[in-house]
Amino acid sequence: MTPDALILAFVLVLLSALSVIAYYSHRRRQRFKPTQSRDHIFRCAKCDYVYTDDEDVELSRCPQCSRMNEEMEF
Ligand SMILES: [Zn+2]
Repeated sequence: MTPDALILAFVLVLLSALSVIAYYSHRRRQRFKPTQSRDHIFRCAKCDYVYTDDEDVELSRCPQCSRMNEEMEF
């Protein structure tokens, strides 16, 4: 193996290692995103307050005026 081939092999290994790290950090970021936006968004029909609640609730109590509200659809 010539020194040139050795350097080329080293650079290739370094680049593929960087690609793997970039790929996994990208995937981890994508996995976290839906978790944050999975909460349901509610808008109070009485006081117009917009708030979020867990994804498994269909009716949520407004923290401002205690009115029960349905999930907001986009
Ligand atoms: Zn309200």
